[in-house]
Amino acid sequence: MSVLNVEKPAFMAEEDIAIFEDAVGKFFDEHASETTVAKWRKNHCVDRDMWTKAGEAGLLGLSTPEQYGGAGGDYRHEVVLMEQLGLKGVDGFGISLHNAIVMPYITHYGTEEQKQRWLPRLATGELVAAIAMTEPGAGSDLQAIKTTAKKVGNQYVINGSKTFITNGQTANLIIVVAKTDASAGARGTSLLVVETDGAEGFERGRNLDKLGQEAQDTSELFFNEVKVPTENLLGTDEGQGFFQLMGQLPQERLNIAVQGIATIERALALTIAYVKERKAFGKAILDFQNTQFVLAECKTEGTVARVFVNHCIEQHLAGKLDAATASMAKYWVSDLENKIVDRCLQLFGGFGFMNEYPIARMYRDSRVQRIYGGTNEIMKLLIARTL
Ligand SMILES: Cc1cc2nc3c(=O)[nH]c(=O)nc-3n(C[C@H](O)[C@H](O)[C@H](O)COP(=O)(O)OP(=O)(O)OC[C@H]3O[C@@H](n4cnc5c(N)ncnc54)[C@H](O)[C@@H]3O)c2cc1C
Repeated sequence: MSVLNVEKPAFMAEEDIAIFEDAVGKFFDEHASETTVAKWRKNHCVDRDMWTKAGEAGLLGLSTPEQYGGAGGDYRHEVVLMEQLGLKGVDGFGISLHNAIVMPYITHYGTEEQKQRWLPRLATGELVAAIAMTEPGAGSDLQAIKTTAKKVGNQYVINGSKTFITNGQTANLIIVVAKTDASAGARGTSLLVVETDGAEGFERGRNLDKLGQEAQDTSELFFNEVKVPTENLLGTDEGQGFFQLMGQLPQERLNIAVQGIATIERALALTIAYVKERKAFGKAILDFQNTQFVLAECKTEGTVARVFVNHCIEQHLAGKLDAATASMAKYWVSDLENKIVDRCLQLFGGFGFMNEYPIARMYRDSRVQRIYGGTNEIMKLLIARTL
């Protein structure tokens, strides 16, 4: 039950969605308990067999058509999964990137042969996905990437290094953003699919030590003369990479807003329960007017955010979510998430600073929401273009 004053919108209130939500919640209760997630955090990686279990439970490829091994659902199912990840505190499991970012690239831009080749194996968990755009020298300015893919005979030869790649230690299918023609600007960028098992010249670098989301194996990747067949160019034509990336960005940004609102709801629920229990000066912390005002503000702002996110989901389901509105959701909700989690943490006092309390971990995990998926400053640039 949400702590916010917003009823589920009609499109999320259908019975099969409720049944699915219940099943996902139970799956995480069983396979991603607090102890299990703590172990993943310690190992800086989610257990590989979690992916197989998710595949067996039908949670991979939720919005991928059944003919390619997916569950044949739509974005509502992805929303349920992302919300449950946030509400249950399953941070670090890169399933939403696998499902709601990488698989859609193949579904939307892959040839029939490519869809048949990769989607069914992504849906079982035999393949774990990643997307490698960012490089040590280029993040926001994606056109400045240096990784190249040169066509030699019936192969592409890939050279370059990537960093900050989600699922970097685990992934064995990686969409690599590379220049196929360095002189052609945006039209010289292409997406190459690399299956890493047995790929000569492919190396994983450090599993990066991060401020939060420690269970996530965010990593460096190196490509040194890695050869893939020309059939691994995503789609049929070279030079489409930038446009393919732009086409998927609204969903990627909305995903971050959906995860953000789930975190806001969890933070509020945990804090309200805590301030009712904890006593100081002979009364519950909630009885201080300051606590009531802080939480009243958080609840109001969270409610406003939830209404906007629901609006964006509805627009997206109707195929009408534009890049600027998705950017508004990404930047505004992730900023609010950080603000609310910080204010909630304050109400926990010293316990809020202790990692054994979920609010402390949420504080650290939330910070990156303002950075990845395009920084919030870049979001404002995109919005400003519509002024
Ligand atoms: C945990 C984590 C997971 C990630 N996962 C992935 C992944 O799976 N795949 C992937 O490819 N990448 C991934 N990234 C990378 C992420 O998308 C980039 O870090 C992000 O896009 C910012 O790029 P950058 O780090 O190079 O920062 P920079 O581009 O160097 O930016 C530095 C600062 O300058 C600001 N800035 C830059 N340009 C402008 C401008 N024009 N106007 C105003 N301000 C500007 C930025 O907003 C930022 O504050 C991940 C990052 C993290 C931290």
